[in-house]
Amino acid sequence: MAKHSTSCACYDQPMTSSGNSTVTPGQATLTDALTSIAGGFLVVVTGAGISLASGIPTFRGNDPDAVWKKDITELGTNRYFMQDPVASWQWYTERFDMVLDKQPNAAHRALADLERWQTGRGGEFVLITQNVDPLHERAGSQRLVKVHGSADRVRCSRAGCINGAPRGSLPRTDFPMNAFRDNPSLPTLPRCPACNAPMRQHVLWFDEFYDEHESYQWSRVLDAAQRMEALLFVGTSFSVGVTALFLEAGLARHCPVLSIDPGAGEAPVAGIVQIKEAAEDLLPSLVKALQDS
Ligand SMILES: [Zn+2]
Repeated sequence: MAKHSTSCACYDQPMTSSGNSTVTPGQATLTDALTSIAGGFLVVVTGAGISLASGIPTFRGNDPDAVWKKDITELGTNRYFMQDPVASWQWYTERFDMVLDKQPNAAHRALADLERWQTGRGGEFVLITQNVDPLHERAGSQRLVKVHGSADRVRCSRAGCINGAPRGSLPRTDFPMNAFRDNPSLPTLPRCPACNAPMRQHVLWFDEFYDEHESYQWSRVLDAAQRMEALLFVGTSFSVGVTALFLEAGLARHCPVLSIDPGAGEAPVAGIVQIKEAAEDLLPSLVKALQDS
């Protein structure tokens, strides 16, 4: 990949005054990019950074509490689940209990407002999230792709079962976990009501593919990458497959490509506009300005 170059604009300057309102350079750039595509196709890709302000630690990145730092490439695999389903369930139960307890923050709500604004002016919109938490849905986002699955659902581990890949899943709340929590063991594992095979997390594991399950909506992702006219990353680290795919497609299509990340380091490639501000501060004022314009 190309090194950081002068064609990459990074905005972390102090706020400047514009008329009666205070607008940061990042907000001004975003406003210009979003208004310029008029009724075009806006794609937003979010990552763990957007859920930090809701109290969910990042799975990757520079956060010292990043939970996936340890041995996630081993724990987050189907191989590990097949080897030790009890340990896999223990690990996920602990983490997903915490994740499912959280509430959306101002950035999640602003993206739901941005969707309404964009579609309200006749434009196309899709929000693709790498996060498995349910915070975008809870904030009201509708045109949403959860490309890594969802922590609030589980599925049968037997492919082809009505409750398993490629189409099936069930709400996590259908499976009371008290017996498993009290005594984690094979007999207390949640089982498929149709075939009695162990249930598993409805998430994309490291040794699996984006097209494993229809609810990951991979064909919609590819379509968005081919047709988008503006691309906004929020809280992503560019280290996961889907961000690299969109970054490459956005630059190849000469779309405006912007990234909101207060902890951004060097830009991964030239041509991406990095805005080093907190999304929960920037996005609400951006959407308000767009609505008022
Ligand atoms: Zn089954």
